[in-house]
Amino acid sequence: MARSESTDVLVVGAGPVGLTLAAELRRAGVACRIVDRLPARLPYAKAVGVQPRTLELFERMGLVREVLDAAVPMRGQLTYENGAEQGRVELVLPPEVPYGFAALPQCDTERLLEEFLGRYGTGIERSTALVGFAQDPAGVTSRLTTTSGDGMEVRSRFLVGCDGAHSAVRKGLGLSFEGGAFPEEYMLADVEVGWDLPPGYGVRSMHRGEDGAIDDLLVCIPLPGNGRYRMSMLVPPELSAARQAEAAGPAGGGDGVTHGLE
Ligand SMILES: Cc1cc2nc3c(=O)[nH]c(=O)nc-3n(C[C@H](O)[C@H](O)[C@H](O)COP(=O)(O)OP(=O)(O)OC[C@H]3O[C@@H](n4cnc5c(N)ncnc54)[C@H](O)[C@@H]3O)c2cc1C
Repeated sequence: MARSESTDVLVVGAGPVGLTLAAELRRAGVACRIVDRLPARLPYAKAVGVQPRTLELFERMGLVREVLDAAVPMRGQLTYENGAEQGRVELVLPPEVPYGFAALPQCDTERLLEEFLGRYGTGIERSTALVGFAQDPAGVTSRLTTTSGDGMEVRSRFLVGCDGAHSAVRKGLGLSFEGGAFPEEYMLADVEVGWDLPPGYGVRSMHRGEDGAIDDLLVCIPLPGNGRYRMSMLVPPELSAARQAEAAGPAGGGDGVTHGLE
């Protein structure tokens, strides 16, 4: 029989959104639990850019020092077209803005938020997935399962879906998700390069074909570390997963997913 437990707020999803919410709730003295179906944090850079306003919010939380120590300042962007430099954007802000732009891999943002949350005695309950819920006027009863097959019911005043783009909470509530994926496919890599471009600048290098359309694109975002960048580039047609799935036909397998850069 499933265990039954209760809390004020059940946060589903320990990405940056769920972790920030849980930390803010705990900071305000609200009891909460945070669950994630993954057994461990993913090691990918994913969302790297940290806005000045986010740093202000981290300051309010008491986390800005750790974030700034782990991040690198983002100073601007260099743009190239067909190999020629087109200009340089300097990320200069009015003097009253206390922080600049910074770059920090998402896995580090999540690590810092998780450590911060731990100071309030709250840890992520991992390998634990929300599989269903029912709400009534007094609250929500959520059904969770762990990878070991255990089931549990959590009763909470609020259930908050921070469970990403394929949110089970959103689907369970019958809410729509407007928008869709870009048709372009990108491949991403975290790499160390040896070049003499100035540190702290993103690089956007594009190639235009004779018809004026962009037929190749490389975007590099600085990461903490010596010469480290997160590079994303358009997938050439011969490597396209969507094209390979199309060529294999309807029975040819493939997940049919186009992974667009957000
Ligand atoms: C390869 C890649 C590159 C990206 N690059 C950028 C970028 O350059 N810039 C940018 O702004 N954004 C980028 N993104 C997007 C960015 O990562 C997301 O916007 C961000 O992660 C959203 O945060 P979130 O907390 O809302 O959700 P997520 O980070 O998706 O976290 C949701 C969490 O919920 C958990 N979960 C899902 N379902 C359940 C369930 N039923 N029960 C329990 N747990 C569940 C998941 O395991 C996950 O840990 C990128 C994403 C990817 C995949």
